[in-house]
Amino acid sequence: MSHVKFYSGEKVPLEMHKVRIVQKLNIIPIEERLEALKEAGYNTFLLRNRDVFMDMLTDSGVNAMSDKQLAAMMEADDSYAGSETYVKLEEKVQEIFGTEFFLPAHQGRACENIISKTFVKPGSIAVMNYHFTTTRSHIVINGGIVEEYLCEEGYEINSDHPFKGNLDIEKLKALIAEKGAENIAFVRYEAGTNLIGGQPFSLANLQEARKVCDEHGIILVLDASLLADNLYFMKIREEQCKDMSIREITRAMADLSDIIYFSARKLGCARGGGICTNNKEYYIKMRELVPLYEGFLTYGGMSVREMEALTVGLEETMDMNMINQGPLFIEYMTEELFSKGIPVVTPAGGLGCHLNAKEFVKHIPQHEYPAAALAAALFLVSGVRGMERGTMSEDRDENGAEKLADMELVRLALPRRVFTLSQVKYAVDRIVWLYENRDLIGGMKFVEEPKILRFFLGKLDTATDWPQDLLKKFREDFGDSL
Ligand SMILES: *Cc1c(COP(=O)(O)O)cnc(C)c1O
Repeated sequence: MSHVKFYSGEKVPLEMHKVRIVQKLNIIPIEERLEALKEAGYNTFLLRNRDVFMDMLTDSGVNAMSDKQLAAMMEADDSYAGSETYVKLEEKVQEIFGTEFFLPAHQGRACENIISKTFVKPGSIAVMNYHFTTTRSHIVINGGIVEEYLCEEGYEINSDHPFKGNLDIEKLKALIAEKGAENIAFVRYEAGTNLIGGQPFSLANLQEARKVCDEHGIILVLDASLLADNLYFMKIREEQCKDMSIREITRAMADLSDIIYFSARKLGCARGGGICTNNKEYYIKMRELVPLYEGFLTYGGMSVREMEALTVGLEETMDMNMINQGPLFIEYMTEELFSKGIPVVTPAGGLGCHLNAKEFVKHIPQHEYPAAALAAALFLVSGVRGMERGTMSEDRDENGAEKLADMELVRLALPRRVFTLSQVKYAVDRIVWLYENRDLIGGMKFVEEPKILRFFLGKLDTATDWPQDLLKKFREDFGDSL
């Protein structure tokens, strides 16, 4: 089901799809990549796609659609109110999650806006396994406090814990005892915990949290944006899920949650989002905000074409052979790098492969943004675009002091079903070369530093002219190769 055995014994992730539409890629010479980097202020967010060979920035809105999704888009029933396309989507969501009520939204953060506005009061606490950038912002903007009770193993770069995304239930109990359940807005579980490397939580852990929430009347919210990866890992790694179908595991998770929301830029490989619940009171409260922020209740900011694609994409999420490509490719890439001594986050999660910059370029101090330097260096030597997830992704505190991140990671996302194995091998090969030449990589400094979410639009320069040294060494070793 997941690994087809090879006679050679080699562990190869075998694609259970074939490619029927292709997009031509460019690979430009390293000298031009350096020019592109300079223009982008060494920030991979500011690069132009035409200069990028492998775009591993994110999995958001860039997963490959299936032939059935594309075909469904042609059938979209376009109308402002009451389109058949919407009814199909609503029915699919009801069937998969077993929830009666559905609210459409234009993307994941829009759901977070609606949920936070409805349930977060000034001073109330939102407990979660880990925050996502937009989640935290929405809770804080509504006066809430975010408490992250990730299990200890979640903070370890290398561990063999199968569920690093678990919530520490004892900490939740202690908080309830100390502050009282009435001060807790909700407990939020994030599937495929994004910022700690796409790590899953276990069904058992969610079951324990449900018990505590039941005892104290606390709302349990599931962020199902990265549900597909979490489902895969539960099926593969958790005893009680071994004989359950993906559909059954999904229902088990949904039955434990009061509210489920998702970004359809990830879940269902389309674009959009939505909120599901069986609680009529919650539904009515949240519903008021949809026409105000999203659009009418039968589209919520989504195009009818995307809704058609999403309906099919949700159904395809119930198929192990449609959701295993991401985790299997990520496992392959992570294990290849790990076996060659490259510092990566283990065990492999969903979403992408994560380089540990703190170790990779340990000579670069955190205030010189080692993960940003590594992301820039990797683009320079390969055309692979990753994302900085370290100190540059934090903002300064009120006094202008740097907040040094817990982890300095470079995320190399693997959008689902987009890359081939030879492309992944290329990325691994260049990362290995870069690791052998890591001493040539130097630090970074800001030249334009926005106050909020500086990682998106900030511009950097190199502390020394180290990219020239790296370019020279590249030419020595690779000749006139691209
Ligand atoms: C991407 C993401 C979101 C936000 O979704 P958008 O569609 O980008 O607004 C929320 N939660 C998680 C876990 C995500 O990965």
